[in-house]
Order: sequence, then C-alpha cells, then structure tokens
Amino acid sequence: MAKKQFKAESKRLLDLMVNSIYTHKEIFLREIISNASDACDKLSYKALTDDSVGMTRKDFHIDLSVSPDERTITVRDNGIGMDKEDLENNLGVIASSGSFKFKQEVGDDAKNTDVIGQFGVGFYSAFMVADKITVTTKKFGSDTAYQWQSSGVDGYTITECDKDSVGTDIVMHLKPDTDDENYGEYLQEWKLQDLIRRYSDYIRFPIRMEVTKSRKKEGSPDDKPEYESYREVETLNSMVPIWQRRKSSVKKEEYDKFYRDKFSDYTDPQSVIAVSAEGTVTYKALLFIPGATPFDFYSKDYEKGLQLYSNGVLIMDKCADLVPEYYRFIRGVVDSPDLSLNISRELLQHDRQLKVIAANIEKKIKAELVKMMKDDRPGYETFWKNFGRQLKYGVVGEYGAHKDALQDLLLFYSSTEKKLVSLDEYVSRMKEDQKTIYYAAGENVSVIDKLPQIEGLKDDGVEILYFTEEVDEFAAQIMHSYKDKEFRSALDGKSEEKSDEQKDADKPADESKAVFDFVKEALGDGVKEVKASDKLKSHPVCLSAGEGLSFEMEKYLNAVQPEHPVKADRILELNTAHPAFAALSKAVADDTATAKKYATLLYDQALLIAGLPLDDPSGYTDLVCELLMK
Ligand code: ADP
Repeated sequence: MAKKQFKAESKRLLDLMVNSIYTHKEIFLREIISNASDACDKLSYKALTDDSVGMTRKDFHIDLSVSPDERTITVRDNGIGMDKEDLENNLGVIASSGSFKFKQEVGDDAKNTDVIGQFGVGFYSAFMVADKITVTTKKFGSDTAYQWQSSGVDGYTITECDKDSVGTDIVMHLKPDTDDENYGEYLQEWKLQDLIRRYSDYIRFPIRMEVTKSRKKEGSPDDKPEYESYREVETLNSMVPIWQRRKSSVKKEEYDKFYRDKFSDYTDPQSVIAVSAEGTVTYKALLFIPGATPFDFYSKDYEKGLQLYSNGVLIMDKCADLVPEYYRFIRGVVDSPDLSLNISRELLQHDRQLKVIAANIEKKIKAELVKMMKDDRPGYETFWKNFGRQLKYGVVGEYGAHKDALQDLLLFYSSTEKKLVSLDEYVSRMKEDQKTIYYAAGENVSVIDKLPQIEGLKDDGVEILYFTEEVDEFAAQIMHSYKDKEFRSALDGKSEEKSDEQKDADKPADESKAVFDFVKEALGDGVKEVKASDKLKSHPVCLSAGEGLSFEMEKYLNAVQPEHPVKADRILELNTAHPAFAALSKAVADDTATAKKYATLLYDQALLIAGLPLDDPSGYTDLVCELLMK
C-alpha cells in the first residue's frame, strides 16, 4: 500500500520532532492527553443536543496503559473519534490551529527547540519519544473505523480496521534507549503517574491507569503482617483544580498545602488572592504572597512569573508577562479558556487577552496590599520586611513610571512614632506650617537617630523619616513629592522651617565670615563651602551635601560602580554658638598654625559623623593626641 506523504510544513515539523534535542520530551504525554480530553469534550457537548449519543459527561474517560514487552504506551479515549477525512486533515498536516506560526519561528534551524519547549506542538510531539505511532479511531456516527500509522518522516498510511466502540486509541512505540536518552522510563508506572500529576492534573475527565498496589494479606497476623501486591485501576488526576472552586468552599489549610506543594515552599503563604473574572476575558487566578523571602529573591537566579493554564492544561510554567517587575514576589496560577494551548512565546507577549489579565491581576494585588496595610498592620509589616525593598525598587525603576501606583504602599521608620509609617500617615500628621516631608539617610535607625544635624528638628517635634536602605533616597528623589509635599533631606540643604527673620539672623557676622574663609582656605578644594549651620544645636560641626547627590547615594554608587566614582559636595557647617567655634575664632586671630589644625580636626570629625572615610586617619589621630598632651 502506497504511503502518503506529509505536507511540506508538517514534514519539517516532524523532522524537528524526530531529531529533537529538546530535554523536556516528556511533554508529549500532555499533548496526547489534551487531545483526548478535547475529543471527550466534543462528544459530551454533542450529547447535550443529540440523544443518540446516549452518554453524559461522567461517562467519559481517558485510559492509559503500557506494555513493557512491546515497548508501547497506549492512550485511549471514548471521545468523538475521527473518520478518514479527519485523519487526513488533522494528522496528515500540521495542526491548523492558526496560532502556531511554524515557519516564522522555527525557520531552517532544526535545533531551535524553544518552540517545543514552551508550548508543544500537539500530536507530532509524540515523535520525540516514539518511532512508530498507530492511531485506531472510530468517529461518532460512522460505521467504519480506521487505522493511521506512521514511523515519522517517510509518510503515513490509513487503512480500514475493526473497532467496536467510538473513540480513539493512540499507541506509541518508544524509540530504543541510547546513551543519552532513556525512553524506556516512560514505561514505568510511577513516571506516568508523575507526568500526569505534573502536566495534566486538572484535565476534567478521569485519566485512569491500572497500577500495582500493596496490601496486607488476608488472614496474616497483625503482629507479623504479610503483604501482597495487586492491580487496581486508579484515577491519576485530581480533575478539579483548586482555583476553579469557590473561595468560600476552600479551607485555608487547603490553600496553604496547595501553595507549599506547588511552589516548594516550607512557609505558608501570607495572603491568598482568588480571582474569578468574566467579561472581556474569562479567567480564574489564584495568587499568593509568600510568607518568607525566597533565598534567591534578590539574585538574578530568581525567575518571576505565574503558571499559565488553558482549561486546566499547563501551557507555561513561569509566564513573566503576567506580573509586573515590582510584584515579582507573587506566585500563583492563571487559567483561561480563552488562551490557545499551542500559542507561541512571541505571540503570547503580544496577546491582548494576556495583557488584560495582567492589568487585572496588578489591580488585585494592589488592592490586597492596601487592604492588608489597613486591616492587618502587623501582617503588612511582615510583608514589608520580606518584600518592601522590591516595591521601593519599583518606584525607582523605569524612571519612576510606576511611582503613583506604589507610593501608598511604602513604609519608613518615623523619628516621632518610633515605628514604620506610611507617607499618608506622615502627611496627615504634618503641622500646618510644615512645608516638606523630612527624611534623613544613614546606615541604620540608631546611627541616624544620633546625627547632630537633626537635633534641631527633633527638638521642634518635627517628624523625620529614617532612610536606611540604599534605594530610599533614590525613591524620594524620583517621587519628588507626595500629596504636594516635597521630600527634603534633613541633613542636606537648608532647613525650610525657619522664618525669614531667623534666616536673616543666620547671616554670618563679618568676624564669622573671616573664620569661614580661613577654614575654607585651610581645607582646600576638597570642601566646597564653609558656612554657619542652621541645623546644629549642641554639636560643633557637621557635613552636608548640596542638592542632588547625598553622601549615602555617593557611598552606594561607589560600592556598585567603583569604576565610575562619584563625589557629593562637601559643605562644612559650623555651629557658631558652640565654644569650639569661639576657640577656632580666637586661634584664627592669634595663631594661624593652630587654627589650621583645628580646622582639619573639625572637618575630620564631620567626615566621621557622616560615615565618610578620612583623607588621613593617622594624621587625625596625631592631632587628637597633640591636643590631649597640651
Ligand atoms: P491541536 O490539538 O492543537 O489542534 P494536534 O496536532 O494535537 O493539534 O491535533 C490535531 C487534530 O487532530 C486535533 O485538532 C483533533 O481534531 C485531532 N485529534 C488529535 N487527537 C485526537 C483524538 N484523540 N480524538 C479525536 N481527534 C483527535
């Protein structure tokens, strides 16, 4: 009997499959099972309007069996079946499901296996593991059954055959094992059970297989039990995915277990967000905020994304496009009947439905976080500890494009409340005459709390946000303001809270100016300006940076990009009311050599307070000792 040739495109795809070097060959089973499930769907749908079918949904099933001796796996369904024409059209040519743009993606490069990897290509994928496939099928309403057979690229045959019942049997004869590939693995019960659970757990018809089990021999004594093995048909898939169930019918423990099993986490999730959407796009989503930071979260190994299903069939393990970067900690699943199983990665990126889903999901996550912040503050603080930094990076990322979406979710430590507060809480407490949101950046809360520059504001009862993470100041700079209140460093620049008269009073007297000029001269170009401080109270000196780059930013940038060093302006502020200033003034008038030493000493102290390195640490020590011995 003459062999029929595959259509040109199909032949290339087949070539690709037969010679596949793709490592996830196991997806073939998912593809074959999905087809069987579709066939059951079609006939059960028909049964709704056609009494002659004589079946209801619960009569359908998919049966899996293996024959180790013959090296075959059989997948049998009692779905709609195929007639001769169907076989020609469906298995003779590449799947006509328009979404698969084979030519574009595979091109002439038979090694471009990504296409198979992510999406499978239906029936043909079985040729990754099988060297011969026999399809025996009888279509509903037809008297004749047919057998389609192919050993791959050289074509296929279709013959009439006997088959009593409606439906399709697919027998895959596995390729011989090689040094690299153990195809025989697929003949093992546990392997098939594992594959079904992984890829096809939510197929809505039972996938059954006879498996070997063990039980206590009847009559064997309890204290010395004897065991025997027996065979029993078992349903391998759980059929109803947890996300298809109504949230009110699922216990917290069930969600927790599902999360831990699915995402291999030891910690229960902190929040579960169940979404059921109908409208432009129909989908269900189950999202989790993890209860702990994954160990690799801030490394490049961490991959964001949600599991994507089409009607219970897994199409992608980590669909990155479904969650924005700043919510990359979210784990979960999305299931939409509107998505095609064979959609390719590139198309997925431009998929309109996927975009709609992603936008909805983002809103749901935000709403959940806002709610948690309001109703469960300790819970939100735990979340913040785990993932807050990511949100702040989200504010800074993409030139601040997402700051409006995220600013309400931020928390910072407050000098007056002694705990984490939101920007909204800060602003709503601001005194009427306070114009700006004050922050102070430094190593940690206790270091910042001791900074001499903020003593004045603290004494006046002004709330200051303590910025302890490198990203904080960048975030404030990008946000610029919150509810029309500008962010302002309490350490750098001028204090806004002073009245104009006070500012006039701050103007240096002539004799002070002479001291500043002297100190500036003595310290040289390293210092941009020497001036009277409007911030200091009980301390003699501090260093401030001008507008823009702060010392904390300088430290951070130099740590991450040492090849492009940056330097913030160093402005030395002196407390003219301090006795040290009087001593300096006197020395400037009487003994310039000593005055130079004082200037250096004060500058070095200011550097130390700012957490900046001294230009000459041993010189500083010598100076201190010299004064000690005076
Ligand atoms: P897809 O499922 O994406 O259309 P496939 O290559 O997997 O692509 O299958 C091609 C077609 O073959 C299916 O659309 C279906 O019409 C038919 N088919 C495959 N398996 C079966 C089956 N078990 N029962 C009935 N029809 C089937």
